Amino acid sequence: MPKLMPVAHVDKTKYTGKKLNVALVGLGRYAAILADGLQASAYCKLAGVVTGHPEKGEAWKKQYNLADKNIYNYSNFDSIDHNPDIDVVYIVLPNSMHKEYTIRAAKGGKHVICEKPMALNAADCEEMITACKNAGVQLAIGYRLHYEPYNLELKRLGQEKVFGQVRLIEASLGYRTTDPGEWRLKKALAGGGPLMNVGIYCVQSSRYVSGEEPTSVTAQFGPVTDNKLFNEVEASIIWQLDFPGGLVSNCTSTYACGVDRFFASADYGQFELSPGISYGPFKGKTSNGELKFPDINQQAAQMDGIGKLILENKPLPSHIAGEEGLKDMKVIDAIYKAAATGERIMLA
Ligand code: NAD
Repeated sequence: MPKLMPVAHVDKTKYTGKKLNVALVGLGRYAAILADGLQASAYCKLAGVVTGHPEKGEAWKKQYNLADKNIYNYSNFDSIDHNPDIDVVYIVLPNSMHKEYTIRAAKGGKHVICEKPMALNAADCEEMITACKNAGVQLAIGYRLHYEPYNLELKRLGQEKVFGQVRLIEASLGYRTTDPGEWRLKKALAGGGPLMNVGIYCVQSSRYVSGEEPTSVTAQFGPVTDNKLFNEVEASIIWQLDFPGGLVSNCTSTYACGVDRFFASADYGQFELSPGISYGPFKGKTSNGELKFPDINQQAAQMDGIGKLILENKPLPSHIAGEEGLKDMKVIDAIYKAAATGERIMLA
């Protein structure tokens, strides 16, 4: 895995070249946060939306001063291929829709950013990567923490073995879910429970701190804390990843309670963040003392990092491209298989 370099904070006023025009697909909670990030971005701007709700399209058009012709619905979305004013389609839909809309956007000749989790399984991720390659467009996954200073420091501490070989990681992310109507509790839309939604960050941090791919997985489902809420997806899941360098990573993701922490113990010291995975502000320390970095607009930093490379017609590095989403999904597929069978699943 390549070393991940911090993206310098971009001064919006200093860049005067062309901005990348982004259309957001699916105007839910995260799209609103991304829209704020796009407002603060130097290299990208919000230029269009795709929504199934005409009234939302109208409201967004007014709020962000969007052109009429850049407001699409799910039926006329494919005509985006004739629109030179959209460069990138950013998919912020429920997980089960990521594959279809990535492939449709690629066929329309648009670069694609797709939210995590990339798809429902590794086979779907492979189809998405192939579709984008065939269409000659770039595919990025919305992994905002690859641009976040505290997480970049975790990577540096782990990959550069600042405290020696990391031997143990404990990573947990969860929150309490109470809304039975939430699509995240429907298997057909979400693909799974907290592992698909937030546990993926613990898979990510284990991989980017070690700089390695896991060789085997064991996993256990946690208790069903509410029969009505959790009749399709898991309420909690705990898993263990073994890495070739001698690291074991023990992770939890849950919809039963709030938790947001990362801890690593290496041969000669320790480092941790809590909170360290959500939107911040983050807090962390190492055996040498407190970690102190600026709290940034994670979405603006992500859009600048991806946007600058696309504008320069440079290939996106694999750690933010579709390949990274595929690597996570292979691990997630194995975690679910291990939990369902009780067996150790070999990955390499
Ligand atoms: P949300 O429920 O707030 O929004 C989903 C949007 O999809 C809504 O506008 C809804 O109208 C639309 N939609 C279209 N068809 C739908 C259907 N059949 N069922 C439900 N909604 C439908 O969800 P969200 O929190 O914005 O999450 C969207 C995606 O973004 C997910 O894949 C999620 O994992 C990802 N996400 C990423 C981050 C991050 O930090 N990178 C944070 C939150 C969400």
